[in-house]
Amino acid sequence: MATIFSKIINREIPADIVYETENVLAFRDINPQAPVHILIIPKIEIPSAREINGKEHGQLLGEMFDVANEIAKKEGIFEEGFRLVFNSGPNAGQEVYHIHMHLLGGRKFKWPPG
Ligand code: AMP
Repeated sequence: MATIFSKIINREIPADIVYETENVLAFRDINPQAPVHILIIPKIEIPSAREINGKEHGQLLGEMFDVANEIAKKEGIFEEGFRLVFNSGPNAGQEVYHIHMHLLGGRKFKWPPG
């Protein structure tokens, strides 16, 4: 089902887009939880990480990680480190059911998460 992220992909609503490939789009989170908070999404609609399987989506997932590393370098947080998060389903607090990788950085994070 189409979400607000489909509208961002289709340029129907604005977003601060930082990176784009044929298959992947990355834009700044509207409610940042860290100095760098970017969402990396595939252009195809996949609701959550629970619908991922390696055979079908391995290439796409690899590309999302390539994009994350590339952006981390551009944002100057690659060496110091960063956090990549997929919230998947209700208990994880997923709000938008179009799979997205959070790239968070620019500060130190706690573990375990809240
Ligand atoms: P999640 O809880 O993992 O589903 O995260 C959804 C994220 O999308 C939240 O961090 C929101 O702040 C972010 N978000 C929602 N709408 C927008 C938007 N229009 N542009 C950028 N980020 C958004």
